[in-house]
Amino acid sequence: MAKKKKEKIDGLSSDDLKKIHRAVRLIWSWSYPCRLVKKRSMHEDGFPRCENPKCPSEGRRVPKVSFDHIAPVGEVGGPNYIARMFTPSSGLQALCRACHDVKTRVERGLTPRKSRKSHSRASKSSASESSASNKPSDYDPFDFR
Ligand SMILES: [Zn+2]
Repeated sequence: MAKKKKEKIDGLSSDDLKKIHRAVRLIWSWSYPCRLVKKRSMHEDGFPRCENPKCPSEGRRVPKVSFDHIAPVGEVGGPNYIARMFTPSSGLQALCRACHDVKTRVERGLTPRKSRKSHSRASKSSASESSASNKPSDYDPFDFR
């Protein structure tokens, strides 16, 4: 993999911060709160359910959920960063991809894509739609920025 040369920073770089964030998230994904919400969202049929009460899936099974911090964790090393990351499971929710996309966009100050009619019949259609416009490689189930 050809890396373009980056200016080396003799100290804490934004790259380091990104790596720290990723590492903390990884450790968090092994944490008990995370396992609890995973267990909570998983149903007997082996499929998870989205915990957003307004989810278009209406409590039906979804292929995959992301574990979302209800209160955004915020900047790496920000106030109570670690404590916010390791919030009890009541501060977490399992969201299907459509719901997680919307929440992430809102948190990043982007306008949520117009809730189109198809949103009410989510799972199948929106999954393929959003991956087209949303760089699927950028999608990370443990991305809770
Ligand atoms: Zn949902």
